[in-house]
Amino acid sequence: MTTKQELKQYQNFINGKLMAASSGNTMDSIEPSTGEAWAKIPLSTQEDVEKVVTAARQAFPAWSALSAEERSGYLRRIGDAISLHDEELTTLETRDNGEVIAVAPYLAEAIKSVWYDAAGACKEGSQGKTVQMGPTSIGYTLREPFGVVLGILPWNAPLFTFTIKAAYALAAGNTVIIKPSQQASVSSLRYGELLGGILPSGVLNVISGLGRDIGDALVAHPGVSKVSMTGSGTTAGSILRASARHPKPTIFELGGKSPNIVFEDADLDKAVDGVIHAIYTSNAGQRCTAGSRILIQQSIFEEMIDRIRERIKNTIKAGDPMDLASTMGPLSSLDQYVKIRSYIKLGVEEGGEIVCGGRHGGENVLPDKPEFSGGYWVEPTLFKVNSNTLRICQEEIFGPVAVVMPFETEEEAAAIANDTCFGLGAGVWTRDLNLAHRMIRKIESGNVWVNTYSRVGADLPFGGFKESGYGTDSILEYSREKACVIEIEE
Ligand code: NAD
Repeated sequence: MTTKQELKQYQNFINGKLMAASSGNTMDSIEPSTGEAWAKIPLSTQEDVEKVVTAARQAFPAWSALSAEERSGYLRRIGDAISLHDEELTTLETRDNGEVIAVAPYLAEAIKSVWYDAAGACKEGSQGKTVQMGPTSIGYTLREPFGVVLGILPWNAPLFTFTIKAAYALAAGNTVIIKPSQQASVSSLRYGELLGGILPSGVLNVISGLGRDIGDALVAHPGVSKVSMTGSGTTAGSILRASARHPKPTIFELGGKSPNIVFEDADLDKAVDGVIHAIYTSNAGQRCTAGSRILIQQSIFEEMIDRIRERIKNTIKAGDPMDLASTMGPLSSLDQYVKIRSYIKLGVEEGGEIVCGGRHGGENVLPDKPEFSGGYWVEPTLFKVNSNTLRICQEEIFGPVAVVMPFETEEEAAAIANDTCFGLGAGVWTRDLNLAHRMIRKIESGNVWVNTYSRVGADLPFGGFKESGYGTDSILEYSREKACVIEIEE
């Protein structure tokens, strides 16, 4: 095992250079499968905030003056180059946040496709329109970048959220500062260094530190022109308050309590796979789109519960995240572990009936190696409930804990699906195309998946309704329109 003295020290990447925090302070990054420190990251300060904003502002005029073709060339080169570092980056992410390494090939492919999509979109981000205003005047619009875009990342998906924010912001001609979560910064610090080797100095910068310190200071900084944050609603509120000091536009990609709805005519084998994958084997439920409310039509309710229980018991293989055979890893931090355990306790107190799980570890969950005994392991847990009003049905738990409840009609399914403050994703399982289309229209969420779950694509928008956020990380969100009118002398 690694000792404290051997911990690798990662650094900020500012203005084309690796840099320690000005104070020299660091914090430990914890490996969730063992609960032990495995790397050190800079604990940046206000002084570093000034440095990074200055660097990004100074790089902006030259970067924004490039033609769309030139910017596209840079992004395409990143897409080509990043494949060479897939394994290194995804390994860092797995050690840092505990997501199983089995997802690495999909993650690497998704990242590459975003860089290529952003390269292709460069022109779209700079195209305006012309308007004939009258016999002697012509109007047109210019699309221009904002300036410095700040990307604030969550711990559950650092590489992917880094990519969608940086790629489209750069494509539109902005320079970028990335602030990863203090709980999982290592992959982002290394990613920034790799990308920075391809881009001009100052165009892309990465700075780590505490959200309440440097996150808040970056948001409030007058040199930052737009903020795109992925995280919780509580942090979104803090960001809105901080950004009010120098009002600036924001994109928020927030949490969810997504319904996964199974109708009696569905292919039940596929639906069970979809239910399991949507919550338990999807980063142990630590995914914004987690299908944490399973709604099942009354006529197949008990049969489906039996199938889900059986599938959890026999197919989920929780274990060492670095083992390719593992399908579920640990929770990503001690805080997460404590929070999820308290929700399980609450579920029991609220009258939820535990169908399976609920314990720390468990026979099919706790890896048998002694080094994992301090890790943050929780069994896949399913509660049978009768009412959607329980707190475990309304609040985002963000772990391997789901509720299952019955419905009779499509109207009732849609009403339960919409009965939360969130609106991020929804799954619908049916063979009836008309029913599928009716449900798509009835469900209030930014994404609806039929006979599949959580499918996203670089050329489809991804965003939330209601308290799941607003805006999407797309090129048009990262440029603004200027209206120009010219009067022609006759
Ligand atoms: P979080 O809100 O705790 O932290 C997110 C980021 O905000 C971190 O980098 C943190 O350091 C920073 N931050 C904290 N306080 C700040 C402040 N005052 N000012 C500026 N920045 C601050 O979220 P998390 O726990 O890292 O991530 C989990 C949440 O993210 C869940 O709610 C999940 O649903 C959501 N999420 C949403 C999506 C999506 O696309 N909709 C994707 C992934 C995760």
